[in-house]
Amino acid sequence: MRVSKQHVVYQMHRDHPAVASCRSGDTVIFETCDCFHDSVRSSTDLVSGVDFSRINPATGPLFVEGAEVGDLLKVDILSIRLESQGAIVSAPGLGRLADLIGKELTVIGEVSGDSIRILGREIPVRKMVGVIGTAPAGEAVPTGSPHDHGGNLDCTEIREGASLYLPVEVEGALLAMGDLHASMGDGEIMGAGLEIAGEVEVRVEVIKNRKLPTPFIETPDRVMTLASGKNMEEAADRAVRNMAEYLMQTTELSLEEAGMLLSMAGDLRVCQIVNPNMTMRMELDKRYLA
Ligand code: CA
Ligand code: CA
Repeated sequence: MRVSKQHVVYQMHRDHPAVASCRSGDTVIFETCDCFHDSVRSSTDLVSGVDFSRINPATGPLFVEGAEVGDLLKVDILSIRLESQGAIVSAPGLGRLADLIGKELTVIGEVSGDSIRILGREIPVRKMVGVIGTAPAGEAVPTGSPHDHGGNLDCTEIREGASLYLPVEVEGALLAMGDLHASMGDGEIMGAGLEIAGEVEVRVEVIKNRKLPTPFIETPDRVMTLASGKNMEEAADRAVRNMAEYLMQTTELSLEEAGMLLSMAGDLRVCQIVNPNMTMRMELDKRYLA
């Protein structure tokens, strides 16, 4: 099944009608626009020309049959395919250099195989999904904001081979995604990676009777708790506490011991510090879960 990028939302919202439906276990391809709704095509397309009412389009939402409130939605990222060209932008007021930036600049990157030609350099392709989430139970959340439902997490670990667990807060889950990056560094300091259109092939599965602190990522080697907050400290505390809680639920460790393990062998990392909420993640090798 394929969900066309003609069907996009700018908010994650329980009232949005599903544009497609699938069964648990199905494989679905989401075609995705870049975060500028494919409007930045050359170095002369500047931020000031972008229609900010159409920023961060997320393709969907997809209704997953059998997904009920309180379930988990497991999304396996099977493959990410990119177009051959992406864009990165800067403008006064954007990102962590905001007050220093004096002019708008757009730079185009050419993707060829495993590398990107940009800024007179070759940098490796590190494909990832920036925006992915389910519909929250309450008020609509703009696709530019990350929170517990997912959204604009901008986490470099949401890439091929990862499984992302999201909460099901409304019937059918209403999954949507977009904002692919050909490459982005942890932090996303300018507020953009190499923004690019493409498609994401995922397998979706409804998980019943299991509790996880979401958003939660499992890779072949690691587990990760993601959390967003109004600043890095709040996001970090939430990510750490979620992982400690997970360890207490799944191992024999006490809170103190779980904290010690994380303090010695876990990695607290930044996802992004440029969106309306900041997002951090706590990572731990799976071998410590035994
Ligand atoms: Ca983003
Ligand atoms: Ca982006």
